[in-house]
Amino acid sequence: MTTTARDVSVFGDAITYFNEAADLLGLDAGMRAILTHPSRQIIFSIPFQRDTGEFEVYTGYRVQYNFARGPAKGGIRYHPGVTLDEVTALAFWMTWKCAVVDLPFGGGKGGVTCDPATLSQNEIERITRRYAAELVEVVGPDKDVPAPDVNTTPQIMAWFMDTYSMHVRQNTPGVVTGKPIEIGGSRGRTEATGRGVTICALDQMEKMGLKPETARIVIQGFGNVGLYAAKLFAERGCTIIGISDVTGAYHNPKGIDIPAAIAYSGKHHNLAGFTGGEKISNAELLTLECDVLVPAALEKVFTAENATQIRAKLIVEGANGPTTPEADRIFREKGIIVIPDIMANAGGVTVSYFEWAQDRMGYFWKEKEVNERLQETLLDNLHELQAIVAERKTTLRTAAYMLAIDRVVKALRLRGVYA
Ligand code: NAD
Repeated sequence: MTTTARDVSVFGDAITYFNEAADLLGLDAGMRAILTHPSRQIIFSIPFQRDTGEFEVYTGYRVQYNFARGPAKGGIRYHPGVTLDEVTALAFWMTWKCAVVDLPFGGGKGGVTCDPATLSQNEIERITRRYAAELVEVVGPDKDVPAPDVNTTPQIMAWFMDTYSMHVRQNTPGVVTGKPIEIGGSRGRTEATGRGVTICALDQMEKMGLKPETARIVIQGFGNVGLYAAKLFAERGCTIIGISDVTGAYHNPKGIDIPAAIAYSGKHHNLAGFTGGEKISNAELLTLECDVLVPAALEKVFTAENATQIRAKLIVEGANGPTTPEADRIFREKGIIVIPDIMANAGGVTVSYFEWAQDRMGYFWKEKEVNERLQETLLDNLHELQAIVAERKTTLRTAAYMLAIDRVVKALRLRGVYA
């Protein structure tokens, strides 16, 4: 059965944003119907053996949302909260994200409902190999190209690539991105999403008259996205006054020592016990007065309940789907500018695209080249959004959906609907 906007929440919220932009574009009902239904949703069982010898069964998902502009593209999430609804919403966002930065990809996403904190590396490897084996027929460099997401790492991508390559009897690095550099990964991929967050934020800050040297930044989440965003903001002279992870939040009005926080979380695998700031609750972190607030954890962080208390001038959505439509309306009324997820965190998929292209060429670029192309890709498209905002008097989010939908619809009309 297909997931629809009515029965679900995360995907339902995603559709709300789509509809607003579709209205402004005057999109016809047929196109809307096509674009609000996923092309393919795959659910399967993953039986695996614990280190103790016992068997357990987890559920795996892959949603290939749209192929109009190219192979599906999107990460794999390992988390206890993974559902078909969430994976569908994430695949839907990937479609628009790839289009908004003009990559030759459609949208996809995958996940396994599991808690990696309770699993050994050997168990994670077995789950990953079974997950990849189940998808052999439907993924591939020209079909669907997965990547890391929450709780999935370059090592997990290496196991995925190896399993696929073994099945097809051919080394196929381009089946997945976010791999270690030694086996076909791209330089700059690990920090790309965080780098993209800072590139977008600094550009928008300049337009708002906010100088990096005096800017106070708060970051929720200290994983791949949040950590590198913090590092790069700090390197640009910004003051990071608050950070958090799933274990708690830390506030220091004078500025958190980010290299120390990175070293601490590297050693302890999280921030629990970090002494570089006053311990506050995760909810309090979000309401700190600051210039830039970066949600870089999970969905639905800003809701009708807390949006009125947010005291940031600019929100840069490192995470996917952190703002509910109700919260978005409140931000609009309060004059808080939001750089939406499909633009703000597109740095990761952009460098994934570079990785896929390098794998297919068998020729690898220097990190400087990767970073320069990333900056150019993000800023060219962010500037297009800023121009739409000025012309249509709308938000960056609506502008991003308008640009992305327009690009996907053009591709779909040129290809025609095989009906
Ligand atoms: P990650 O697993 O590396 O890190 C997630 C971080 O969020 C961890 O520090 C975790 O402790 C923290 N966290 C979880 N729940 C929290 C809570 N309730 N309060 C505070 N912190 C909490 O994941 P990631 O790759 O950094 O992804 C984070 C978000 O960015 C996700 O929404 C993901 O979809 C999105 N994203 C990731 C990439 C990428 O390249 N990794 C690209 C685009 C978007």
